[in-house]
Amino acid sequence: MQLPGGLWHNNQRNRRFSFRPLTGEMELVLAEIAGSDASLPAKVTSALSATLDRVGGEVPTGSLVETLCVADRQFMMRILSVYLGAEEVWLTARCKHCGEQFDFMVNQSELPVKEAGEGFPFAPVETSVGFYRLRVPNGADQLAIATVDNSEAALQTLLERCIMDLPDTLEGLEDSSDFIKKIRAEDLRKIETAVENVAPEVATMAQAACPECKGANIMEIDPYMCLKQGSAGIFTEIHTLASTYHWSETDILSMPKIRRQRYLKLIDRSRGMVD
Ligand SMILES: [Zn+2]
Repeated sequence: MQLPGGLWHNNQRNRRFSFRPLTGEMELVLAEIAGSDASLPAKVTSALSATLDRVGGEVPTGSLVETLCVADRQFMMRILSVYLGAEEVWLTARCKHCGEQFDFMVNQSELPVKEAGEGFPFAPVETSVGFYRLRVPNGADQLAIATVDNSEAALQTLLERCIMDLPDTLEGLEDSSDFIKKIRAEDLRKIETAVENVAPEVATMAQAACPECKGANIMEIDPYMCLKQGSAGIFTEIHTLASTYHWSETDILSMPKIRRQRYLKLIDRSRGMVD
């Protein structure tokens, strides 16, 4: 499959990625990551490095997965959720017009994706204090600001990390934090637009019509849904397979999910014949 952005390595962009065959072991690891106290960006990095086979032609170590842009990470987490069996997801919302609660379904693999613009992962910006380049924010940047409460400080940290070259028109500037103090509100808007132009994007909102009053509602669609998918199922499956075939837990967990599902169906069918 192809990433909307891609890994930037040796001045080349590589968009390919693939997951490993899904086993029960991986599902257990994911359940443990989801239930841990780690920050969301850290959970995403762990989940992806535990399940990816290759990304951008490379082995998916934690530090490599951190260098992928935010939308690439969201995109892979959504594909992982589909891979785990959640293509169709039912969400519940309260209508902002009539107050009625309603359910609506999304097909995760059909949600819109905007591919990266030209120049990705770099965005050139002409500001009041000169021309410079920014890098599209990635997982490591998210991690760096995950514990910063103050939004202004978070923005400052993000800018410091994402500035690639300082303008050569300025003299006497020691580092990027000095530079950031000189830029104005209008520059910030330009920076935001420039980064948005090249950054890929994954839909995190969708419009749904209320079945009661037909009013339009904007719904949030979590790209990290696979961290919330239940892990209780895997224990029931281990129990069913172990008590039927007397296989060990290790054997069951090392089996590809598809094979596990086939045996479970056979057990269901033979039970149906007995009952
Ligand atoms: Zn309504």
